[in-house]
Amino acid sequence: MNIIKKTINGLVSLIEGLKVTISNGFQKPFTLMYPKKKEELPKISRQCLQMNYKEGESKCVACKICEKSCPQHAIKIETEKINGKEVLKKYTFYPEKCMYCGICTEKCPFDAISWNQNFDMASKTKDQTINYKRNS
Ligand code: SF4
Ligand code: SF4
Repeated sequence: MNIIKKTINGLVSLIEGLKVTISNGFQKPFTLMYPKKKEELPKISRQCLQMNYKEGESKCVACKICEKSCPQHAIKIETEKINGKEVLKKYTFYPEKCMYCGICTEKCPFDAISWNQNFDMASKTKDQTINYKRNS
């Protein structure tokens, strides 16, 4: 009698477990087939610093306010003199140093940098973290 009761209890719990497994098989998956499909992040999320442009030209005037205000030294700006004026030559953002405080974008008086939602920034060379390079 005891064995029959135990067997029935085992079968009931097996059926209940199978019910959960089968019902999960018909649900929409919670994961995406990354990297083929990517999650769209909210516009306010901070992922990678990007250069803003106006009529094809960088809005950055190389004032270096962002570089000086960055507590992590995650921005490096190189300039060069063209026609007696100091202009931006190279703008490098180091995501591995950044703590995503947003001071740089808030301090920039020219709206020259902003955040994009590109979260997969892995690259084989450090050169790929350069956000701007003047062709000269
Ligand atoms: S990004 Fe803005 S704050 Fe930084 S150097 Fe360019 S203009 Fe100045
Ligand atoms: S978000 Fe903060 S740490 Fe990152 S580059 Fe800007 S100022 Fe530096």
